[in-house]
Amino acid sequence: MKTYAYGFPRVGKNREFKKSVEAFWAGELSEKKTQEALVQIQKDILAAYEKNGIDQFPIGEVTGYDPMFDAAIMVGVYRPKNLKAYYEFCRGKNALEMTKWFNTNYHYLVPDFSALGAVKFSVNWNKAKEYLDQFKKGTPSIIGPFTFLKLSKGIPAAKFGKTLQQLTKVYQKILATIPEVHLEEPAFVLELSKEEVAMIQEAYKVLATSGCKIRLITYYDSVDFLKELTQLPVDAIGLDFVNGPANLQSLKKYGFPKGKTLIAGLVNGRNVWRTDVKKAVETLKEISAVAKNVVVSNAAPLFHLPISLEGEGKLDAEVKKRLAFAQEKLEDIREIANVFDGKQKARDLNLNGLWKNEKMRNRVQALTAADFQKKESVEERRAIHEKQFNLPLFPTTTIGSFPQTPEVRKQRADVRAGRISEEQYKTFVRKSIVDLVKWQEKMGLDVLVHGEFERTDMVEFFAEKLNGIATTQGGWIISYGTRAYRPPVIFGDISRPAPMTIDEIQYAQTLTKKPMKGMLTGPVTIIAWSFVREDVPIAEVAYQLGLCLQDEIRDYEKAGIRIVQVDEPAIREKAPIKKRDWPSYFDWAINSFKLSINTEPQTQIHTHMCYSEFGEIVEQIDAMDFDVISIETTRSRGDIIESFERIDFKKQIGLGVWDIHSPAVPTKAQMKKIVQRALKVIPKENFWINPDCGLKTRGWKETESSLKNLVELSKELRKSAPAKPKAGASRRRVMASSSCQCCEC
Ligand code: GLN
Ligand code: ZN
Repeated sequence: MKTYAYGFPRVGKNREFKKSVEAFWAGELSEKKTQEALVQIQKDILAAYEKNGIDQFPIGEVTGYDPMFDAAIMVGVYRPKNLKAYYEFCRGKNALEMTKWFNTNYHYLVPDFSALGAVKFSVNWNKAKEYLDQFKKGTPSIIGPFTFLKLSKGIPAAKFGKTLQQLTKVYQKILATIPEVHLEEPAFVLELSKEEVAMIQEAYKVLATSGCKIRLITYYDSVDFLKELTQLPVDAIGLDFVNGPANLQSLKKYGFPKGKTLIAGLVNGRNVWRTDVKKAVETLKEISAVAKNVVVSNAAPLFHLPISLEGEGKLDAEVKKRLAFAQEKLEDIREIANVFDGKQKARDLNLNGLWKNEKMRNRVQALTAADFQKKESVEERRAIHEKQFNLPLFPTTTIGSFPQTPEVRKQRADVRAGRISEEQYKTFVRKSIVDLVKWQEKMGLDVLVHGEFERTDMVEFFAEKLNGIATTQGGWIISYGTRAYRPPVIFGDISRPAPMTIDEIQYAQTLTKKPMKGMLTGPVTIIAWSFVREDVPIAEVAYQLGLCLQDEIRDYEKAGIRIVQVDEPAIREKAPIKKRDWPSYFDWAINSFKLSINTEPQTQIHTHMCYSEFGEIVEQIDAMDFDVISIETTRSRGDIIESFERIDFKKQIGLGVWDIHSPAVPTKAQMKKIVQRALKVIPKENFWINPDCGLKTRGWKETESSLKNLVELSKELRKSAPAKPKAGASRRRVMASSSCQCCEC
């Protein structure tokens, strides 16, 4: 049995990717040296495949920023002349919009056709051939034409088929220059229409004329049109049997052509548990009964995992032996093949969690409907809040974090390494809070934050405080560009041994008369950005988290904190790829959030979500029963606003007016445009003014200038708007239009 693997993380063992690219941005590394560093990363990846017994793997998986963007350059949608120009599209003033890649926390740059007028595709950069020339042998990896187009924006539905045909011709030319290609088509697992399937069939007929052997790889879920898929003129087909178990049923039903190879994804590329090899071998036997030529593979690209467990000395040994990161997953792939061939016995691993907390289990068990539903309606709560806070129209706030300067990071590194004491670190954090509170008062913001200086990452921070969750030392995953984070591992029952954030927030509140916002990460986001145990239902994990967060909010209430933000940026991303699987997901997702915030009506609950396709889930968002939401808008250029036309949204909302993912300072006029557009559908008395997201990646300079503009804008809006209406004043009801233009449906 042969083995196949793909998608090995490009982050580098010592985060070389981040270091070299950021050094280039800083002008410290030349273009040539940066390219060399990228080539070295590619070499390391190939060595990892080889060393761990993988027979076949693609080349060219490394990118300077994002493979979708590379594909766009390849076919001439964008034509940067050099590396500097390349990065202009990624992070400059006119950076492309970024959105989440399927239901993962990876963000890709979205090629936007609307901004381009008529696109003429051409072979602008034959990345595949370049790699082949460089590495002499191997199968170049590229994103398939259907996925590329499906995930781009600005192509009118009526023109999609024609555009795909044009694009396919260019792909055909590229494929004609190489003998073999690893072509990734994850969009094949979406719920596609008959017409789209027909377009795919057409496109692949054209690609086949290139003479290039195509390994067509799908992942993240099952393919609904498996019958047609297996008939496409390709050499090999990769299927996900982990997150797409329906693939096995379809395979049994429709069979698999003799002449083709089935790349059987049996090792989970999206979670860190060691593979249950015995079970995988059973599945492999079922697959082999249908398909003649089978190779064992990972079921999704491995870049969703950290590189290796080596160096994770601080992990509990019992937890560690149940884990496998990318490198160890390669071993799992090899082991499945060997066990299948009878060359080796499967390791006996008890994969069940051992870490029980009876108290938390009982609390979850005892939950009733009342635990998930606040007694007071949003209007009733609003009346209480208006009296209590007496905020002006267009209140201003920020999303929580402030610049994590080198100094902040150094202090944290120092305390971790024992170079400074806990006490010294605490003093530093307190001093930062004092400075920030003063600064926010000076800037004229209305609802203040403490700045999150003590937090590394919004999930890791809570993971460190909660029982049942482990954190890693070097388990970096790229979330976009060069930005990496370390997802924690939820391995057992979760409990809160002590308050997690009260000290800092309470202290910050003593420094000001303005309301200080408590800051928590919601249960869905903690789950989405962690690796989660699979031995209990996910709802159970979510409710344990929900209870811990509720306890924390109750502690805020005792400490006199009256505004609490529970961040849920991952709510859309975590939704299953197929909409038919949504109801069961949103059931636990919404309930766990509502459980977290089910405290006193006096507490104004905010939530924050970053960018995503919110149009599709505005009803679910509305069901979350918070009081105020802040949400990204600048990158999606206000598209999101249309979705609020659909429902009678009674809650307050802050549409982010400053794109914090770019160092550019927004002008007052730019921000005003967004507000004015939004005010067509959102009543002004419901409107907050805030940035898109937290400011931790920004510098102080642009933070100061941008927030100054933002506060000025709010003051200007107040002047031109009539006095604030009384609580409960009637709001315009906007009906949904009969033809839905709000989303991609
Ligand atoms: N409160 C967090 C921050 O400001 C929210 C970040 C996020 O949504 N990704 O950093
Ligand atoms: Zn955000």
